[in-house]
Amino acid sequence: MDSLVKSVLGEDVPKRAVLILSGGMDSVTLLHYLKSKDYSVHALSFNYGQKHTKELGFAQFWAAKTCSYFKIIDLTVLKDIATQSSLTSDTPVPEGHYEAENMKSTVVPNRNMVMLSLAIAYAENEGIKEVYIGAHAGDHAIYPDCRPEFLGALCKASMLGTYTGVEILAPFAKMRKRDIAILGKELKVDFANTWSCYKGGEKHCGKCGTCVERQEALEGFDPTAYGTDYETVIKLASRLSLQDRRALSQRLLRENMEREA
Ligand SMILES: [Zn+2]
Repeated sequence: MDSLVKSVLGEDVPKRAVLILSGGMDSVTLLHYLKSKDYSVHALSFNYGQKHTKELGFAQFWAAKTCSYFKIIDLTVLKDIATQSSLTSDTPVPEGHYEAENMKSTVVPNRNMVMLSLAIAYAENEGIKEVYIGAHAGDHAIYPDCRPEFLGALCKASMLGTYTGVEILAPFAKMRKRDIAILGKELKVDFANTWSCYKGGEKHCGKCGTCVERQEALEGFDPTAYGTDYETVIKLASRLSLQDRRALSQRLLRENMEREA
């Protein structure tokens, strides 16, 4: 069919891909990568009941900017199932480096399998044979459903379970986040218009696992304005004892002075 259209129109038929687009730096870089390869992209974003949907706004922005199809899929039912995850419950998001044990609380069980299953269904319905995801090597330690073994097995299942043999492709699966940042820089990705922070405040907090990872990846060309999320601080402070509130206000004052120095 494609070769028939090609011979009639005398031009290349655009390649088509479904992309899971979160609005974070990895999937936005992958979107730019696919556009650099002349793909027509169908971008899918998922609202899985996460603490904030700020990144979905960035996903929509990039889909519009690259003339891609865009759809937000409602997966808020996951909030009722993933009650142990700090991303979908009232548990505070931990701060620090990603490899720390407490970062496991940011796992939403089997999230990628759920999202990929729906992306495969979408692709089969549209007659698209490639589904892309921006999972990378840095995700492997904590998120089992980002590992190449898992993605390869799911790709096999997808090819068996669809008429058109939909494939799952994760071109960043063996790359570090730093490599993705460098690729994004080469592709002129405007990283200022991507969102990583789990907390969803006015600015990136600069302290949660994903902010720490973002800072390491973008070091040297990071356009992000990191800062204290005062809205959340005030909300949390109301639950503290007077003594802890005093300690907190002293810490904020010190941070502010250090920033201005
Ligand atoms: Zn953060």
